[in-house]
Amino acid sequence: LTILGLESSCDDTAAAVVRQKDGQAPEILSSVVFGQTELHAAFGGVVPEIAARAHAEKIDICVKQALTQANLTLADIDGIAVTAGPGLIGGVLSGVMCAKGLAAGSGKPLIGVNHLAGHALTPRLTDQIAFPYLMLLVSGGHCQFLLVKGPDDFTRLGGTIDDAPGEAFDKTARLLGLPQPGGPSVEAEALTGDPKRFRFPRPMLDREGCDMSFSGLKTALLRARDQVVAEKSGLSQQDRADLAAGFQAAVRDVLMEKTRRALTLYLSENPTHPTVAVAGGVAANKSIREGLETVSAENGVQFTAPPLALCTDNAAMIAYAGLERFRLGHFDDMTLVARPRWPLDKQAPALLGSGK
Ligand code: ATP
Ligand code: FE
Repeated sequence: LTILGLESSCDDTAAAVVRQKDGQAPEILSSVVFGQTELHAAFGGVVPEIAARAHAEKIDICVKQALTQANLTLADIDGIAVTAGPGLIGGVLSGVMCAKGLAAGSGKPLIGVNHLAGHALTPRLTDQIAFPYLMLLVSGGHCQFLLVKGPDDFTRLGGTIDDAPGEAFDKTARLLGLPQPGGPSVEAEALTGDPKRFRFPRPMLDREGCDMSFSGLKTALLRARDQVVAEKSGLSQQDRADLAAGFQAAVRDVLMEKTRRALTLYLSENPTHPTVAVAGGVAANKSIREGLETVSAENGVQFTAPPLALCTDNAAMIAYAGLERFRLGHFDDMTLVARPRWPLDKQAPALLGSGK
């Protein structure tokens, strides 16, 4: 099976070709990503209108490049997968319209993919891990623990009740005067910082279950920054590094502790080869990856994290999720719509035991 994937839900225009032969590991034949960082740089965040226009301008050329790099033409493709949500509606529409055009023109099946399913299935693309696995999906807009039992079977065990960690990294970067996207710049800054100088809150650790909260963290960071600025009439390089390190350590500690709780729920399912996987942009963070690896090792559970380029947005994950849907016979037709919101999960009140 050879699937072309398209992604345009946020600020990356991407196209990729993924192939899986019977009984073999999937292969990424090409993965092209056109970022838009410079377009949004002056605004301190992604501007939806600008993003939508850039996607519409770039998506065709992106698809052409992905096919050329894979050494294929549309005739060699078995299906066209596209992110149909959730995300910024203008961008998602660009991708969906392009994919519909390609499907109509070539007569190949169209497969709508949930962007979050793309992230959550990535460890199967990179490491062929078996269902059921425990997924911590932690990205720019999301943070949730999922019990993944099949390509289309996700049960949410818990997640953030307010901000996503990626968003918190981006806000932290803004508060410290570091460039966007905030994740990589805060991580780089934290390398030379002392994580113990500022003790930031680890919210909700006293509560049962695996729900989390990150909005208080950014308020605490703002207060700590303003206090330093007031005392010293400015932020030194070291202050900035210490604030970044303290923030990152707080996020990591919360994710580690809540992963311990989620693991208990997951292990009660008696998986044969228990595996914890992490995905989404924040999974690119080395310190967080190491923290989750430690928790997995403590519990004798296998841990896997995709390579960095497959943690942040890309179309290989969309092509692969499309491939899994193709195998199940889950196709779409021209009625496929772009959805700004599209929850992936079934809630799991029984597992949570909280009646929520
Ligand atoms: P979603 O997938 O929830 O719709 P998105 O697609 O915008 O959101 P991703 O591309 O998956 O998000 O991830 C981007 C986020 O990941 C940004 O908030 C970015 O700051 C964060 N991020 C990227 N690299 C790192 C890193 N090394 N450390 C921490 N955060 C990171
Ligand atoms: Fe994403």
